[in-house]
Amino acid sequence: MSYQPDNIFAKILRGEIPNDTVYEDDEVLAFRDINAQAPVHVLVIPKGEYISLDDFTQGASAEVVGRFFQKVAEIARQLGVDGEGYRVIANTGHNGGQEVPHFHMHICAGRRLGRMIAQG
Ligand code: AMP
Repeated sequence: MSYQPDNIFAKILRGEIPNDTVYEDDEVLAFRDINAQAPVHVLVIPKGEYISLDDFTQGASAEVVGRFFQKVAEIARQLGVDGEGYRVIANTGHNGGQEVPHFHMHICAGRRLGRMIAQG
């Protein structure tokens, strides 16, 4: 599957759809999830066109990948959730439940999040 430039996060990056930005630099955009599953629910996306974690880690340089993950943790600190803790999730592909085919990491926090994987 090739990258689909009409996906919703590509539209957000092009400024065609509004978003609630919490962090932005030349490589990364972080914004609040429109359907928050926790009191804090932020999505972190690279600005490059990568479909998934698999695509990102194969297609981007080690430096870009490393900086991305450093920024995920930095954004969590900026959100003030590092003390009480948080969860990061990268749903990947069909069985992973990935709905938007632009790589993103969820940062979820603000309450005890319970079991890691729902049953059934
Ligand atoms: P995933 O299932 O991992 O692909 O997650 C996609 C996430 O994107 C879901 O949690 C959606 O609520 C979220 N989402 C979809 N459209 C938007 C949007 N326009 N702004 C913010 N979050 C969105």
